[in-house]
Amino acid sequence: MGEGESAYESVIRQLDLIAQKIDLDPNVLEQLKYPRRVVIVSIPVRMDDGQVKVFTGYRVQHNLWRGPFKGGVRYHPSVNLDEVKALAAWMTFKTAVVDIPYGGAKGGVVCDPKAMSLGELERLTRRYTAMIMDEIGPFKDVPAPDVGTDAQVMAWMMDTYSSLKGYSVPEVVTGKPVSLGGSLGREGATGRGVAICARQAAEKIGLKLKGATVAVQGFGKVGYWAAKVLEEVGCKIVAVSDSKGCVINQDGLNPDKVKAHKDTTGSVAGLEGCKESSREELFSLGCDILVPAALENVITKQNVDNVEAKVIVEGANGPTTPEADRALFEKGVFVVPDILANAGGVTVSYFEWVQNLNRDRWPLETVNQRLERKMVEAFEDVYRVAREKKESMRTAAYMIAVSRVAEAHIKLGLFP
Ligand code: NAD
Repeated sequence: MGEGESAYESVIRQLDLIAQKIDLDPNVLEQLKYPRRVVIVSIPVRMDDGQVKVFTGYRVQHNLWRGPFKGGVRYHPSVNLDEVKALAAWMTFKTAVVDIPYGGAKGGVVCDPKAMSLGELERLTRRYTAMIMDEIGPFKDVPAPDVGTDAQVMAWMMDTYSSLKGYSVPEVVTGKPVSLGGSLGREGATGRGVAICARQAAEKIGLKLKGATVAVQGFGKVGYWAAKVLEEVGCKIVAVSDSKGCVINQDGLNPDKVKAHKDTTGSVAGLEGCKESSREELFSLGCDILVPAALENVITKQNVDNVEAKVIVEGANGPTTPEADRALFEKGVFVVPDILANAGGVTVSYFEWVQNLNRDRWPLETVNQRLERKMVEAFEDVYRVAREKKESMRTAAYMIAVSRVAEAHIKLGLFP
């Protein structure tokens, strides 16, 4: 988002810009500027000490012209309506870039999951699900994990929805545990997609992946898997950070060892054999590939001049402000934008939904092969438009996405 503007204001500005470039029908543009539906719920939860606490929850459904609403659920203290609206709109464009038959939505609850017990989280999730019950459903709106939520949270959502329906409905959420119909490969899909984009980008600029240095900001679900897959193809992971610290090792970190350390201590900080550093220093490390995989607005006009990476692959949603984005474009940094770079997650979520609807299970190789094909096709489409129109990869991705969404609308003939 622009420094000084809200995330949703920045979505609108981006849409106005793209509308001019693709000569978008103003009636379509007008509708894309508003989410279809916003649901706000006050969720009462009995905490472990016996007191009732009320949490605010959101579900924002942005657009459904290409298929059912689809998007993650975020549990974080900084969740707010403006952010959820922006994340929902980004989902509309993300599902269009990888051309899967979904619209866009997002959910969130203002809470600090790290400070809550498992029982409190379960009660919160079940009540939140019951309160948005009428708005979600396998052909209406299909939630998935995001920051602060995981397969266990999806299992509780599925169970609550199924109990209220009276029969099992695994296809109401994706990112479930495999034992409940989750897809093999879903857990690592977003990070794997990030790694595929990094590989494609490296090829375009003639950067050899073997020995290429990588820094990952935000060693969570996406960051870990991106680091793991990039390490498997020969990259050297030289720095990783999380909300509590940053560690650097120029000889290369083993992502599984970092994860084991984080699982036991709660942070990457304190990992043996590493230099401890500030979280900010990670951005100015002279690495080849930088993967922001935490939250929004971390590459800004304040730190962009220090960024020396040749390739940035946005695992997180909205990590780069427009000012920083322009500066990176001018510097010639190859930026793979979030709506393309992190679309591997929703792509395999779609595969999970298809498997559930067909009561089928695909082997891991099938999932990974299809993910590879989808990501490469989407990357090449965006790269082609970026070259032809002399635009950034971000602008090209939006031009493709908004055109696809508009095309669906015009074919539906839905003008009011
Ligand atoms: P997660 O909660 O598993 O991980 C987030 C990580 O970021 C945590 O390790 C946290 O400690 C770290 N972090 C938070 N603040 C930080 C800071 N200031 N500096 C460094 N690290 C910090 O969440 P996730 O699912 O991995 O999601 C990460 C990003 O990827 C989000 O923007 C999310 O919307 C996006 N995303 C996730 C998925 C998915 O499938 N999980 C799909 C698409 C996009």
